Amino acid sequence: MKKIILFVALFTCIGSIGQKLNPNKKAIIASIEKHQAELIKISDSIWALAETAFNESESSRILADYAEKNGLKVTRGVADIPTAFTATYGSGKPVISILGEFDALPGISQKASPVKEPLQPGAAGHGCGHNMFGTASLGSAIAIKELMDQGKIKGTVKFLGTPAEEKFFAKVWMVEAGLWSDVDVNISWHPSSGIEADVQSGLSLIDFIVEFYGQTAHASADPWNGRSASDALELYTTGINYYREHILPTSRIHYHIQDGGQVVNVVPDYAKLWVRVRDPKRKIMLPTYERVKKMAEGAAIMANVDYKISLVSGIYETLVNRSGGEIMQKNLELLGPITYTEEETAFGKAIQKATGKPEIGMDSKIYPLKETEKNPGGGSTDVGDVSWNVPNINLGVTVAPKDTPWHSWAVVACGGMSIGHKGMVYASKAMGMTMVDLFTNPKLVEKVKEEYKTRKGDEVYEAMIDGPPPIGKD
Ligand SMILES: [Zn+2]
Repeated sequence: MKKIILFVALFTCIGSIGQKLNPNKKAIIASIEKHQAELIKISDSIWALAETAFNESESSRILADYAEKNGLKVTRGVADIPTAFTATYGSGKPVISILGEFDALPGISQKASPVKEPLQPGAAGHGCGHNMFGTASLGSAIAIKELMDQGKIKGTVKFLGTPAEEKFFAKVWMVEAGLWSDVDVNISWHPSSGIEADVQSGLSLIDFIVEFYGQTAHASADPWNGRSASDALELYTTGINYYREHILPTSRIHYHIQDGGQVVNVVPDYAKLWVRVRDPKRKIMLPTYERVKKMAEGAAIMANVDYKISLVSGIYETLVNRSGGEIMQKNLELLGPITYTEEETAFGKAIQKATGKPEIGMDSKIYPLKETEKNPGGGSTDVGDVSWNVPNINLGVTVAPKDTPWHSWAVVACGGMSIGHKGMVYASKAMGMTMVDLFTNPKLVEKVKEEYKTRKGDEVYEAMIDGPPPIGKD
């Protein structure tokens, strides 16, 4: 009896969602469900490959091949980046683009297991869920293509395979190559531990390399003949750490020592650091960056060595679009929360236990659209640069339990099993439905564009790069 009531309740629930959906959105959902098994297979293949920034040749090929197989026009190696590609379909306006990332993070290999256990010790892992990111987005683009084939919607859908998000920020070069110049609205999503139409910005940042050049000498017999690059490195980082007290609480400075000398009995003639400065506002980040650069000169003077500063790349904070967020929010409300099996909930709780978090399981509720924070915390993304060139609508979808440490083995674990698969398919549907709104309602496109213009104001976008993409570099 209980089973019958449950069945009726479930049926009624699906029926009521179905009734609220217009035929185009129903068709999008049906199309994604038709491709679901293949999408999961692709996501799992990219998960297992776990290729890092600019090394994602197989992951990129798998996605591009699938796009081609499904009738999209694929152009590989765009913006002089071998792993970047576009996959387009349709013609004329509006042009709606959708982003697909697929790079992994070094050193966090993990099995699809709720206890820490590397798949391959020391190897990379998808600790940011980008195996699901690219796959879900391509799934929505294919669903839109199928709707165009049925003559239901008109315009152009443009999937952009965007590599190297975790390091180097390839989208900045892709923006410079003009890949969004014909686009009306861009859609993006990111794997998360909650579902939300994301109306928060992130932090602008800049990456640069500082190198010190001195003179080697015997560390004991004739150290007076040496000029130590590692002395300069230590003085430099000491300066940075004193400076921390005087920066705004919203700003961040990080450094990673990449070379501090080789052995103890040689005065090192070479030292190298990777330095990063961040703030929610690029306008505040830039003067801090200038000051941190100047400190390298001070350290070099003190240690009597030479120095060199090389820009790697910088990214903008994301330009929020609440009008776009409202469209996405309505579609999330139509879709409702993700439901989990007892096994999935237990998996989530085991992850929480292993990472020292409250064992509360999964969170896939649909909350009201949040207020946009003035100074958001969190990370940075090169989606920011896209968002200053074209209006951007962003989505976050649950692929891991609440409070999961990000960029960790725990995210890798969930991204390789059904919790991740469910989130990926859900994201694909939500973005596909949002694209339907944009393709069928020009007023919505105009509203999103108007807000973009107002928020951008008279700011002129200037890409923070210097030269070609650093492919094949560390
Ligand atoms: Zn990410």
